[in-house]
Order: sequence, then C-alpha cells, then structure tokens
Amino acid sequence: MDMILIMLGAPGTGKGTVAGILSKELGIVSVSSGDIFRKAISEKTELGKEVEGYLAKGALVPDELTIRVIEARLLEPDLENGVILDGFPRTTHQAEELEKFLSENGKSVTKVINLVTPEEEIVERIVNRRICSNQNCKTVFNMKLNPPKVTGVCDECGGELIQRKDDTEEVIKSRLNTYYTETAPIEKFYEEKGLLYSTQISQRVNRLAPEVAKDVVELLK
Ligand code: AMP
Repeated sequence: MDMILIMLGAPGTGKGTVAGILSKELGIVSVSSGDIFRKAISEKTELGKEVEGYLAKGALVPDELTIRVIEARLLEPDLENGVILDGFPRTTHQAEELEKFLSENGKSVTKVINLVTPEEEIVERIVNRRICSNQNCKTVFNMKLNPPKVTGVCDECGGELIQRKDDTEEVIKSRLNTYYTETAPIEKFYEEKGLLYSTQISQRVNRLAPEVAKDVVELLK
C-alpha cells in the first residue's frame, strides 16, 4: 500500500466525487465507510443491524466497531497499491488508531484532502443529491448542479438513481452538527503532522470536483 489518501470535509462537500476521480486518475481503490455500512444494512447482515440506527439518526457508529470494520477492509489484497479513505477517520480517536495500525504495518498517511464548502451550499447540495444504485458505479448527480440526462437514470451505466435515506433536511442538521463537534478536530491532528491540504470546493467560486482533483494530482507529483 503505497499511497494513502484521506478525504476530510463535511457531508455533502463532494468527498465521494473527488475520491472517484482520484481513484481513476491514480489507479487506487477508494473505500467509503458509509458505503460499507449501507451495504451491510441493505444485506441485513449482523453489522447492518448494529449500525442501522446510527445512520438513520445521522450519528456516528461507535469508534471500536468502525475501526474494526475499516482495519479488516484495509488488509484486503485489492488495496496493495494504496487507498483513498472516504469518510474514515471521523473522530480523533479513529485517526489515532489508524496511525497505530498503519505504523504497525510499516505504512503512513500520504496526504489529507480537506474539502471546504459554505454551509448554505452544503444543505442545498445534499437535498438535491442522487446516487447511482449500481455499486460498481456509484456516480453522484445533483438535480440542480449536475443533473442526469434522463431523470432517475445514471448517464454512466444506465443504473437507477436513488436518494440516500439520510439526505433529508432534518438528518442533515444532525450530520453537520456531528461533523463540527466530532470530526472537525481531526483537521488539527493532521495539520500538526504537516499532512493537511485544505481547499475550497464551491459552485460560488466555480471550483468543483474536477478542478480540486486536478490540483491534488499535481500536489502528489
Ligand atoms: P457517509 O456516507 O460518509 O456520509 O456516512 C454515512 C453514515 O455512516 C454517517 O452519518 C455515520 O452514521 C456512518 N459513518 C460513516 N463513516 C463513519 C465513521 N468513520 N465513523 C462513524 N460512523 C461513520
């Protein structure tokens, strides 16, 4: 595992979209903790049953469980060339545990990409978000910013577009609150290690995922 990138930023800033572009550009797999949990919920596994309530409320899944799930995923062979972590770590404790785990395996975080978006824009983005239900595609659309050519159908693969259950205005408030209280302190953790790259991503300044991804690729050269 050579390159280890972490996507940081509030929900709805575009972590998944930027991670998707970077994954293609850099040839490394992107792993989303939220996707792992949603898959478990839809497959009604033990893990799914355990985490369902947290996702529905927009609260964090407890650290120990999350760490166990992600560390097991990190040991899988498809991550040999590296990984883009989208949605993990989300607490300082998770970040510390990740550091320990990586150093035990002779690895370290390459860069932390921190996406910054004005809050008003975040809410609008999340309520208009639609995601391709094909797990191998997962392309993200926005009904206003970046609508699909045919309503409800993915441009890339023809899959059905769905709205996440927690992409409602009520749950977003709690997810944002969780982000500011529990996740934002991680910025300092990585800043002190000299790993943090903070960058704006906002339609206001016409700086969206492709530009951000391009800058990250340059930064990594
Ligand atoms: P996401 O798809 O990244 O927005 O995550 C969706 C939900 O999954 C979050 O609101 C949390 O309930 C849960 N989740 C995802 N990643 C983590 C994490 N690293 N720690 C705790 N809970 C998480």
